[in-house]
Amino acid sequence: MFGSRLDTDGKTRSERTKRHVNPGHSSKEETLVVGGGIIGASVALALSRRGASVRILERAEPGGLATHAAAGILGPMNETDRPGPFLDLMRQSLSLYPGFVAGLIEETGLSPDLVLDGILSVAPTPSDRAALKARHIWQRAIDPEVTFLEGAAAKELEPALTGTVDSALWYPREGHVFAPRLIKALFGALARRGVALEQGVQVVRIQPEPSGTLAVIDDTGGTRHARSVVLAAGAALSAIGIPGSPVRIHPVNGQILAVRSPGSFYRRVVFYPPHGYFVPKKDGTVVIGATEERIGGRTRVTPAGLLDFLTPLAPLAPDLLSLPLHHTWSGLRPCSEDALPVLGPLPACPNIFVAGGHYRNGILLAPVTGEILADMVTGQSSPLTTLSAPFSPGRFNGDPSKKFLTK
Ligand SMILES: Cc1cc2nc3c(=O)[nH]c(=O)nc-3n(C[C@H](O)[C@H](O)[C@H](O)COP(=O)(O)OP(=O)(O)OC[C@H]3O[C@@H](n4cnc5c(N)ncnc54)[C@H](O)[C@@H]3O)c2cc1C
Repeated sequence: MFGSRLDTDGKTRSERTKRHVNPGHSSKEETLVVGGGIIGASVALALSRRGASVRILERAEPGGLATHAAAGILGPMNETDRPGPFLDLMRQSLSLYPGFVAGLIEETGLSPDLVLDGILSVAPTPSDRAALKARHIWQRAIDPEVTFLEGAAAKELEPALTGTVDSALWYPREGHVFAPRLIKALFGALARRGVALEQGVQVVRIQPEPSGTLAVIDDTGGTRHARSVVLAAGAALSAIGIPGSPVRIHPVNGQILAVRSPGSFYRRVVFYPPHGYFVPKKDGTVVIGATEERIGGRTRVTPAGLLDFLTPLAPLAPDLLSLPLHHTWSGLRPCSEDALPVLGPLPACPNIFVAGGHYRNGILLAPVTGEILADMVTGQSSPLTTLSAPFSPGRFNGDPSKKFLTK
């Protein structure tokens, strides 16, 4: 079920589930990953595959803040307005996806329904056409397979587009995955590898110790000691007290829904202006989203929010709006001050690593984030760590001209 397990900060400790999977004994040689969402799980798996001793601390349900809410789109080209390091990072992660998923299926037998059969970005009216053409020019220089289509050709690719479509861009190698199944498969793989998951542990503070290790303190005052820590606490990352950390992550609420189609004849992910999309899933549901609202650390679903992306959908794909409503939900995207990922060690404490701020693209960026963080924590430099250099937490302190990247 999509996003049905949203976390709340208001729960008392006794209300939170206390569950330890493979608890073992924590040790000063371990890496502790704080947060069991898609990012924490991917980092833990990559670390475990490199032979590192790793344990996940999760305050509630793994992935409950954002991962379970995600539409699962893997679509780099629609997520930025220009070429540059962010697009490079997303495209690199997309290229890792088939191997990432194949490894999970091999280890667990669980399939997260990866589909890479193309994404459309449509211009509903002639006045939207020029913007699409401008995108096509810079994007085809990066990927010659990006194609400009007239409306009729776009409608052939996606039967839900029975309304007005002027033109479209076609990204034949992009697609989507079923995020709740992906995280289930990740935790299946982690359990098989003996990686410990401690559930019901809310980390409140991390303190460097004179010996060079870290004290990781939870809300009961309990302390674990670790060689290194990876912060993967999603939209709640900034609530963890860390001396001198320049990283601020803000929660951005996303409202989203699913309708149930009678068969599986809808096929492609479609982006439509100003910021809507729909995603036909293999199980016959069509996910339609999503809002972006800065309303603090709470989630909400409102009729006005749903209208925000349903109203522009009506002239494009009217049949979708007549399908039975299956489910509505919302989740909290983790957004940094420049809306870009934050990857790497904290300048003031190099054995605390941030894996955060994935905002609209944490599902897409999970494979590359896992590899990058695992390389960093185990002290290896690689082409991927070079690729991640612009996303260092250090950009938020020091030279103000380097403070913000451009998305
Ligand atoms: C409506 C919506 C649609 C989206 N669609 C897409 C999409 O199509 N494609 C895409 O790539 N991305 C999408 N995203 C974004 C994606 O879901 C996020 O970027 C991603 O899930 C972030 O993963 P995470 O592991 O960092 O955070 P989360 O999944 O939020 O996981 C963080 C975990 O940390 C735990 N935690 C928090 N604080 C503590 C603490 N102090 N101690 C212990 N544990 C803690 C939480 O309980 C949680 O389980 C969408 C998001 C939303 C809301």
